[in-house]
Amino acid sequence: MTEIWQHSLQNSLTDPADLAKRFGIDPAPLRRVAERYPMRITPHYLGLIREVGDPIWRQCVPDPAELAPDELFCDPLAEEELSPVPAVIHRYPDRAVLLASGACAVYCRFCTRKRKVGCAAMRLPLDEVRSGIDYIARTPGVKDVLLSGGDPLLLSDDVLDELLGALRRIPHVQIIRIGSRAPVTLPERITPALCAVLRRSHPLFLNTHFNHPRELSPEAQEACERLADAGIPLGNQTVLLRGVNDDPQTMAELLPGLLRLRIRPYYIHHMDLVRGTAHFRTRIERGLSLMAALRGRVSGLAIPHYVVDLPGGKGKVPLQPNYLESLGETAILRTPQGERVEFPNRVGE
Ligand SMILES: *Cc1c(COP(=O)(O)O)cnc(C)c1O
Ligand code: SF4
Repeated sequence: MTEIWQHSLQNSLTDPADLAKRFGIDPAPLRRVAERYPMRITPHYLGLIREVGDPIWRQCVPDPAELAPDELFCDPLAEEELSPVPAVIHRYPDRAVLLASGACAVYCRFCTRKRKVGCAAMRLPLDEVRSGIDYIARTPGVKDVLLSGGDPLLLSDDVLDELLGALRRIPHVQIIRIGSRAPVTLPERITPALCAVLRRSHPLFLNTHFNHPRELSPEAQEACERLADAGIPLGNQTVLLRGVNDDPQTMAELLPGLLRLRIRPYYIHHMDLVRGTAHFRTRIERGLSLMAALRGRVSGLAIPHYVVDLPGGKGKVPLQPNYLESLGETAILRTPQGERVEFPNRVGE
């Protein structure tokens, strides 16, 4: 039986010629890009586009800039070197990423795993994923498993049930996290049956990936309500993208909007140094001034950590506007608006 969401995947746009028909653009330059980096746009995500070049379009439509030479890297986070078996990335002692699926509902043009997501290089036969679980089972330090890919929620309910069940039977695995963009790009995937599968594996967290307030659609809201009602704590990772969300107004709409969907903003990622994504890059200064603009303007619950994942697999580090000018008997702090304030630092010492 084909489920509704599988039908949506089959009806997604994968050929720039179809976009050309809809929007009256020249498909030829896009086709060359899509041959190198695949395109897929679900009917739901397509419906969020209002005009050529808008923030939704930029995230999902191939751009000739992806093929321009840049000084960036296929695998900036050295994930391949940190991969003890093909389906696992193991960088921190207590956490491991399990690549559960090679495909996504929509291929984001800025993806960190652009080198292989949706490509032949990322065909992940189920046996490789199972071998990944065997690796986790024989590595007792791993307490926290992150299912990623690709998008793990593109697997069928049965396969997910099997994989999650196998992980849950490993005594040292304490929590399971799923990273999925399905609530944004394919909300019909979040069925009651899927939620029933997920809730069998508690404690299970789901991190989704909204980048723009227009993605907070009624359908996405319904999907997130289902997940939250299944007791799944929801987080969100946003990528800071030029021309999509790199301004305070957009972020001040997106982040509190996530809270209304019961999603706690977790990370804003500074762009990784990924080949073919230079046109999305911002400077770190831009992210820092964004963070400063948010503080005091939106609920503290809506403010995520701004992080950069260092090249060579050295891990994530938080980036913070500097509010601390000096320490000592009296500390000097600065408000986000720039006012200097003295703070007695040794009272009661
Ligand atoms: C981001 C990441 C994690 C998880 O990091 P948290 O800060 O705990 O969310 C784990 N492994 C790899 C390889 C990662 O890139
Ligand atoms: S959903 Fe995630 S893994 Fe898939 S293309 Fe987008 S950023 Fe990459």
